[in-house]
Amino acid sequence: MSKKVVILGGGVGGMSAAQELAERGFDVEVYERLEVLGGKARSIPVPDSASGGRKPLPGEHGFRFFPSFYKHTFDTMKRIPYGTNRRGVYDNLIETTHVMAAREGMTEISFPLYLPERLDDWEMLYRLIVKNEANIPRSEMLFFARKVLQFLTACTERRNTDYDDITWWDFVEADGKSKEYVDFLAVGLTRDLVAMQAEISSSRTVARIYVQLMLGILQPWLHVDSILNGPTSRVWIDPWEAYLTQLGVNFHTGASVDSFEFDASSGRISGVNITQGSETFKVEADYYVSALPVEVMARKVTPQMGQKDPMLATLDQLQTGWMNGILFFLNKNISLNHGHILYVDSPWALTSIFSQSFWEDIDLDEYGNGELEGILSICISDWNTPGVLYGKAARDCSAEEIKEEVWAQITRRLNDTGTIYLEPGDVITWFLSPTIDIQPGEPTKNTEPLLLNTAGSLRYRPEAASQIENLFLASDYVRTNTDLATMESANEAARRAVNGILGREGWMLGLCRLYELEEPLIFKPARAIDRLRFKMGLPQLDYL
Ligand SMILES: Cc1cc2nc3c(=O)[nH]c(=O)nc-3n(C[C@H](O)[C@H](O)[C@H](O)COP(=O)(O)OP(=O)(O)OC[C@H]3O[C@@H](n4cnc5c(N)ncnc54)[C@H](O)[C@@H]3O)c2cc1C
Repeated sequence: MSKKVVILGGGVGGMSAAQELAERGFDVEVYERLEVLGGKARSIPVPDSASGGRKPLPGEHGFRFFPSFYKHTFDTMKRIPYGTNRRGVYDNLIETTHVMAAREGMTEISFPLYLPERLDDWEMLYRLIVKNEANIPRSEMLFFARKVLQFLTACTERRNTDYDDITWWDFVEADGKSKEYVDFLAVGLTRDLVAMQAEISSSRTVARIYVQLMLGILQPWLHVDSILNGPTSRVWIDPWEAYLTQLGVNFHTGASVDSFEFDASSGRISGVNITQGSETFKVEADYYVSALPVEVMARKVTPQMGQKDPMLATLDQLQTGWMNGILFFLNKNISLNHGHILYVDSPWALTSIFSQSFWEDIDLDEYGNGELEGILSICISDWNTPGVLYGKAARDCSAEEIKEEVWAQITRRLNDTGTIYLEPGDVITWFLSPTIDIQPGEPTKNTEPLLLNTAGSLRYRPEAASQIENLFLASDYVRTNTDLATMESANEAARRAVNGILGREGWMLGLCRLYELEEPLIFKPARAIDRLRFKMGLPQLDYL
């Protein structure tokens, strides 16, 4: 008889684990608190927005980007059938071609995400590098390049200790540098793309991601950044659910995990208590995979579980931050850039994409009131810095104030050099992710915060296979090669969790494939030398 695995949480981590297990013949049950699957990656239809028999407007928790180093996620997507796609859901990814930086009072800077091919690509690079339109002092650019080199030539052990303990801000010595250095190099990318504040983020994590993004640009056969060709749930999560159901996975939605039962005599989990509707019951299995977010799991760990595995007891040391989506549904089809726009000097660290320009096969007439022509999907990554209209941080604003403030910060950066791209009359309606819970007279809550890879946090990141023999972890906070709170790390964690189960079942072959983050081979000798120096307690060599 096949072994039974209960998976707690139906986000990317939980669904990835379900897939790996079901494809290997396990009996899989998934318990998910919400009525829908996908977790933070789910789409959220806009309530009361449909008329004339159409679908509700396609809201998202936040837009999704899939950089080229997402090998685990891509591999999973290729196995999810989708229509006539040869490579399943993976073929629903569309490459973005440019990233644009928008600043107030200055011309936008666009950057090709591939090696230059056409004349205008070279022109863009010329403007960026030779004319230095970003205005970063050359000495500071060189300084930054030197810091990246320093990281590239450091061995893993040094990165995991010294560089994890220092913030990215301190590592790139942002104090006293120009505003442009801070906006573009020290803060911009990390804050805008992954809600990481340079002042608290681990330099190891940020530098590794920088290197991955750079490698993506330098390898023309890779797509540095892709996005889906439709609403996330429609073109990925729903087909995934259908595929898993076909494999025999049982999904229990609206089913919330209350607590774990731990049997101290055997040192094993003996069951999980679940509430579904008005019913509360206990589920039992051979193995349990917790794919709950870190802040939820930290609260579920009992003292006895923490004693058995001390890494579980310190999960509350891992910090979360806020990153959330707001969408403007437009009655005109505009796209200023074929990719993301980073509002590098915006107080709320805004990033946007005009989603509709990638939704080639989606008929927008199917949605809303039939007027939909464009979707400006925005992520707000800084909820603590005062805005420009009300002088308040996003977390202190009403939903209406957030909308006004985001619109002001965006239009001040797009409409400021002669052409008016966005006007209030273009907006049909807007939608703020309901995970931002704003109640009058109460501090605003974010019901689904995102893990932050803060400096010094690596030591608190648990392995997927816990010290409790039948408990495994499959969420974005687990220790992985990816090491950044993303769908990729959730997927990799799930593979590691499943490999843990397979190991305990005695499987030697047929394990889930794990991928390393690639690094330029040219620095391998320097890293080997540094490993020796690190072991001898010596500092790193300075190659410049
Ligand atoms: C706005 C935003 C934009 C993002 N953009 C990107 C991006 O572009 N690219 C990228 O790679 N990553 C992005 N991320 C990060 C990424 O979405 C997450 O890291 C990833 O989805 C985490 O997956 P997970 O399965 O570990 O956790 P989750 O997605 O949080 O899934 C956990 C699941 O557990 C469920 N759950 C919670 N409590 C209980 C309970 N008591 N009982 C049962 N179930 C429970 C939740 O409802 C959820 O479905 C973004 C995140 C945010 C917030």
